[in-house]
Amino acid sequence: MIYADHAATTKMSRAAMDAMRICMEQTWGNPSSLHDVGQNAALALWAARERVAACIGACPEEIYFTSGGTEADNWAILSAAYEGAKKGKRHIVSTAFEHHAVLECLQRLKGQGFEVELLDVCEKGTVSRQQVAAAIRKDTCLVTVMYANNEIGSILPVEQIGEVCREKKVVFHTDAVQAAGHLPVDVGTQHIDMLSLSAHKFHGPKGVGALYVRKGIAIQPLLAGGAQERGRRAGTENVPAIVSMAAALEEACAGMEAHTKKLLLLRDRLIAGLSAIPHSSLNGERSNRLPGNVSFCFEGVEGESLLLLLDDKGICASSGSACTSGSLEPSHVLLAIGRSPEVAHGSLRLTLDVENTQEEVDKICRAVSEAVERLRFMSPVWKDKVSGKKPFAL
Ligand SMILES: *Cc1c(COP(=O)(O)O)cnc(C)c1O
Repeated sequence: MIYADHAATTKMSRAAMDAMRICMEQTWGNPSSLHDVGQNAALALWAARERVAACIGACPEEIYFTSGGTEADNWAILSAAYEGAKKGKRHIVSTAFEHHAVLECLQRLKGQGFEVELLDVCEKGTVSRQQVAAAIRKDTCLVTVMYANNEIGSILPVEQIGEVCREKKVVFHTDAVQAAGHLPVDVGTQHIDMLSLSAHKFHGPKGVGALYVRKGIAIQPLLAGGAQERGRRAGTENVPAIVSMAAALEEACAGMEAHTKKLLLLRDRLIAGLSAIPHSSLNGERSNRLPGNVSFCFEGVEGESLLLLLDDKGICASSGSACTSGSLEPSHVLLAIGRSPEVAHGSLRLTLDVENTQEEVDKICRAVSEAVERLRFMSPVWKDKVSGKKPFAL
């Protein structure tokens, strides 16, 4: 089996599993309890907070633990919107290719009278500082732009966007779920006010994440209940998962340089191999992308069929297109970077990790090449293209 879907989730690392098990055995108390067992758990929780904070250049008091990336995104966006509304500011700037956790949350706010402006994304999969600057108005309460895209892996200029937001005194949130543990993050130099991360994208457990909130930025609780997380996030903390996340993030950050070096070789080998397939095209730029991300469109191919053929050969990948209620909608990300719906349907996302090998990459190249050929051979549309009846798009 070859697992090449690390943007969807990763396997927990040995260090993350060990940290979780030890915590469950030794510091299983409720951190809100005043007795010894509770206070030991409180100490473990605080130590995890310090470690997570250190990995992103924050203070421990600025870290709030959540149930994952989705909750962190929702919390940041809803809180900034409601705080803005108090001052009559109801305009939000974001991009057309954010994760659904951001886009659906913005959709909800639209229904509550907020005005949402989604910036166009260029073919390279990014938005510019100038675009953000031009979109900010007097009544803008939030700019939310992702650090790196989960489908095409493009990296956005968060530092420059953060700078503009700081100048214009607008809160800047970034969904860094794909970036944390994979790219350097420093909330100070990058002028980030709020940042979401999720443990299962960097070899930590699922169902746990964090929201960084800069000191001085007001944050409203979403849940009513106890006084956990300094009264901002009610509910008994998932201490074993949080401790495990801290171990995973620390490990990922410590190994980042070495991992990136190795991953770039694998990634670029895979890109070169797949580029040799006729009528194929890489999504996003060759260089400005996550070290493990490879995203392609193959003309005349149905992405879902391609996935099934690859699965048959023991290769786990993703199409990057979402199945919505029975109808196969092309990916909003690929449409946002200007792919036609027809071409967007033939997408394939392969996301690598240091555990992957050169041999696996070569196997993937052969398998994709064969599968694409087979699917095209069966396609009536493809016959029309080959015979010249219809033009090629790629
Ligand atoms: C995975 C992901 C999320 C959601 O995180 P969960 O922890 O799975 O809720 C949000 N944003 C991006 C960019 C992601 O890749």
